[in-house]
Amino acid sequence: MKPHPGMISVIVPAFNEEENLPVLVHRLMSVLSAYAEYEILIIDDGSTDQTRYVLRQLCKAYPVIRFLSFSRNFGHQMALRAGYDHARGDAVICLDADLQHPPELIPTLIEKWQEGYDVVYTVRQPDPSLSWFKRATSKQFYSMLRSVSKLNIEDGAADFRLLDRKVVDTLRQFKENDLFLRGAISWVGFQQCRILYQPAARYAGRSKYSFRKMMQLAAMGITSFSTRPLYLSVMLGFCMSAFATLFGMEVLYEYFFTNATVSGWTTLVVLMALIGGVQFIMIGIIGVYLGKTFVEVKQRPAYIIGDTSDIDETVTTWKA
Ligand code: UDP
Ligand code: MG
Repeated sequence: MKPHPGMISVIVPAFNEEENLPVLVHRLMSVLSAYAEYEILIIDDGSTDQTRYVLRQLCKAYPVIRFLSFSRNFGHQMALRAGYDHARGDAVICLDADLQHPPELIPTLIEKWQEGYDVVYTVRQPDPSLSWFKRATSKQFYSMLRSVSKLNIEDGAADFRLLDRKVVDTLRQFKENDLFLRGAISWVGFQQCRILYQPAARYAGRSKYSFRKMMQLAAMGITSFSTRPLYLSVMLGFCMSAFATLFGMEVLYEYFFTNATVSGWTTLVVLMALIGGVQFIMIGIIGVYLGKTFVEVKQRPAYIIGDTSDIDETVTTWKA
């Protein structure tokens, strides 16, 4: 149990959300005013509409609001990272600007945090209003991600969650450029708790996640948590070599026991198949080492301490 609620930070990534922000802030304020200390940090991800102007007005009206503006559109994940880097709270909650993540759920997230959970993440209940395409691709993506990586991310995991200060500080140690936050948060561990919620419809405007951005996110999720695709080449190489051996035996049989072959053909075919297989194996081996370099280069923390029992005070050398 945490002694007092502490400071709550709410971070909101916003890309061309001029119509949504005033409504969002209004709803956030009515929820957050129950807490002693809080701040709202809005990250304007290089919006091209009046978002920045709206933000200036909101900051004037509410001193608890701060905002950062990116120089251009860096994407949702980068906006969230900037939010985690600049939030000052003991608990940091992130939610979308379009009101699909109901602000009224925030007290529930905070309650769970006060019970001692470090990560309170949300999973959206199946939403019939979501397009068939988005539902199918999202489901497919998560099952693929689970099968190639060791992550355990549920279908419908959303970027609507509360993180304790220590988890935020851990995430800030990740130096890799293309950090897939949903994966990283599942990867870091800590005491996690899950909450189901019913997503609302987008309040105004259109989805800012284009098909291209969705595909980029999916590719980033898979390549930053798995090097398994690199091993494909090794597998393919072994299959081809096995095929070459079998095929070679068949061709040799034909050469020695039948008259059906043209001279020179046998050597050519066997050599081609064999070299193909060996080449794939070699490329695969390079891929495996490349994969290891890739993992090392990211310089993730090797381990993460969740809690300590005042190590400094523990007697480490005992004198009689
Ligand atoms: N967003 C962003 N940068 C982008 C795309 C989206 O900051 O390049 C923000 C957007 O303003 C919203 C959140 O990320 O607050 C989720 O985006 P959106 O609602 O468009 O995605 P969807 O709910 O359709 O998946
Ligand atoms: Mg949305």
